[in-house]
Amino acid sequence: MNIAKKITLLFAILSAVIILLLSGFVWYFSNEFAFEDFYKRLEARVNIAAQIKLYEDDNNKVYAKMRNQYLERLASEREFIIEAGKTENKLDRELPSSFYNRINSGFMARYRVENHFYAGKLFKSGNKKYIVIISANDPFGFRELKDLQRTLIIGFFLSIILSFIVGWKFSNYMLMPLRNIISSVKRIKAENLHMRLEVKKGTDEIAQLAQTFNNMLNRLETAFETQNNFISNASHELRTPLTVISGEVELAMRANTDPQKQHFALGKIKDEAERLENIITSLLGLAQSGFNGKNQPWELVRMDELLWEIKASVHQVHPESKIEIDFSKLPDDDELLNLKINKNLIKLALTNIVSNACKYSNDKLVNIAIETSANSLSIAVTDQGIGIPQTDIQHIFEPFYRASNTNAFKGYGIGLPLSLNIIRLHRGSIAIKSQEGKGTEIKVLLPLTSIY
Ligand code: ADP
Repeated sequence: MNIAKKITLLFAILSAVIILLLSGFVWYFSNEFAFEDFYKRLEARVNIAAQIKLYEDDNNKVYAKMRNQYLERLASEREFIIEAGKTENKLDRELPSSFYNRINSGFMARYRVENHFYAGKLFKSGNKKYIVIISANDPFGFRELKDLQRTLIIGFFLSIILSFIVGWKFSNYMLMPLRNIISSVKRIKAENLHMRLEVKKGTDEIAQLAQTFNNMLNRLETAFETQNNFISNASHELRTPLTVISGEVELAMRANTDPQKQHFALGKIKDEAERLENIITSLLGLAQSGFNGKNQPWELVRMDELLWEIKASVHQVHPESKIEIDFSKLPDDDELLNLKINKNLIKLALTNIVSNACKYSNDKLVNIAIETSANSLSIAVTDQGIGIPQTDIQHIFEPFYRASNTNAFKGYGIGLPLSLNIIRLHRGSIAIKSQEGKGTEIKVLLPLTSIY
């Protein structure tokens, strides 16, 4: 049974129980008090009848006259005056002994069978005791009660139907966002992993669920894209030097009489083999970095200290590099510099960016500025190098893409895509500003609150 049906059923059952209790309550009290007025009328008649029939005084005639003139005859009204102790078979039906017990105790007694009512009392006349009983029908009160009963039963069934309809509409309305999420998620396949769920404003559970799905899709897409590009680009990059190598081998085999040509071919083969080795080493680094971030622990790292480590490791690769770290915009609160990150990955990402800055500026001064805002920490790496042509900027995060002005520089186009993946993994972003011939600024933004 789906949730909508369960909610509807629960809603209907709850409504039924409440309405049933309420109807029972109304019915009980109506039943209790509906005939009170009629009993009062019967009791007045009992007293008057006793007065007229049992006591012989001058008022009797007046009472009798008044009764005949002003006291309306009730439906099927009958009067019984019985000597105490001789009640058998004197009435139209046998009344319960509790009725007589109450009369004998000196109280006014009441009894009812369907809509036929009895009221009776004990009177003394001379040295004899008499029981005066008046019986009558109350067609109005009884009809009202029957009407009420019918109304309550019809009302009960109508409200059950209504609560079913309302419950069904209500549960469908409440579950609509969930259904939308399910149908949107169903539409997301490997081919359209870029699709995201619509996140409605607010912080309710549905908005949180959609946001959580989107976060998961971000991670999935990153991993998926990386894997896809990795395989296609890597195989392409590996095939190029291999094609050159096999071409040169063929050339060398054919030129077996020309040692100079052979030597030249072997040199080329060596170069390409080295290139192959370099590519494979970088690819391995990319693979080993663990794209999902699970392979390395997430820890609290002081980002300013990490920058010193990065500076040192870039210096090992580019001994001529000049890197200055600008701490002038550091926050007063040191705590803000502590980020929960995957240290090895972030170090790898930032090292790539800083060593690019050194490489593409021929070791001119590179500036690293660290700054915090309300919810993020930014690290801006600025160089005065060759810059990136406008047409290339949008592609430089694609694996193996190299800008058109980088022929003079060694590289494979793997570093930046890897850095972007790592930063995305931390829910951060990379912004890039560059002017060809003037320099480049790459700014990494990391959220202050970690996802792990
Ligand atoms: P590569 O091994 O080619 O440096 P990356 O992935 O690190 O690969 O960078 C991709 C491309 O982005 C580079 O080929 C280059 O064209 C461009 N690029 C990256 N950083 C800079 C920079 N600081 N200055 C100029 N161009 C850059």
